[in-house]
Amino acid sequence: MKYRIGVDIGGTTVKLAAVDENFKLYDKSRFSTGEGCTSESIVQGIIDHCRPLIEKYDVEAIGIGSAGTIDSKNGIAVSAGNLPFRNEPVVAKVESALGIPTFIDNDGTCALIGEKTAGACKGYEDSVIITIGTGIGGAILIGDRVVRGHNNRAGELGHFVIDRNGIKCECGLHGCFEQYASATALINTTTVAAAAYPSSILAKLCRENGIEGKTVFDAKEQGCPIAIGLLDEYGRILADGLNSLVHIFQPQVIAISGGVSRQGDALLELVRPHMFKQCKVVTSSLLGDGGIIGAALLGTEHAR
Ligand SMILES: [Zn+2]
Repeated sequence: MKYRIGVDIGGTTVKLAAVDENFKLYDKSRFSTGEGCTSESIVQGIIDHCRPLIEKYDVEAIGIGSAGTIDSKNGIAVSAGNLPFRNEPVVAKVESALGIPTFIDNDGTCALIGEKTAGACKGYEDSVIITIGTGIGGAILIGDRVVRGHNNRAGELGHFVIDRNGIKCECGLHGCFEQYASATALINTTTVAAAAYPSSILAKLCRENGIEGKTVFDAKEQGCPIAIGLLDEYGRILADGLNSLVHIFQPQVIAISGGVSRQGDALLELVRPHMFKQCKVVTSSLLGDGGIIGAALLGTEHAR
């Protein structure tokens, strides 16, 4: 059987695995892109982690999904938010080190390719994937084609404005959707609420376990009224944004991926009551592996 390697470069971790023709993953591994890493060390890490997979499996191609602006035609990571890439010729370096055809694309696009081929968007010609984690990203499929836009930069689904007098965003605008609906935003509102209601279950969980995106979900599970109110508002904000995407793209389905999607039904029950009925909202069914599977399929007909 032929295999392809999928590499998913995120803000803090690079994950990779060999992927077979049935989209099954083998020998998944990861390494950190934490403090002190350079674009050279990330590319070298990819090469070092691919080598044993190439020795073990009949690998015909390597696909890389990376956060940020990616020039997929020329194989260059142009720039990438938290990552140190600045016009890094990733594809040329990996190909010359390993001698295997290599492709690169945006990580949101890779997640969409994964979901439409083997996950929650399978069977739909018009779909949107929205990745909700530290920030918000995404990708759009219309008429079974990935919408890439000029310079391959379409799909920044976190950066439409919902409050022009709102919080300043790194992109230069004020009041972007990401500022209210990302996991970071959820952590910020959790922090404020825990300080305002120190005797609440929410505040107790924050003190005991630290504050994460899931903390408020845990507190709601324990019946905390502060957490219930906070998540009700979060669900409304999320639905406002997703309904706006429905107006613009008319997808048959929106798949939510990223850290927040791990809440599954607990997340969907916040959003669904406020959604337009013509569009299904689901969470990613590939549990974080969609980016690897989609990256592995770069260069094939699935990635059109
Ligand atoms: Zn923005």
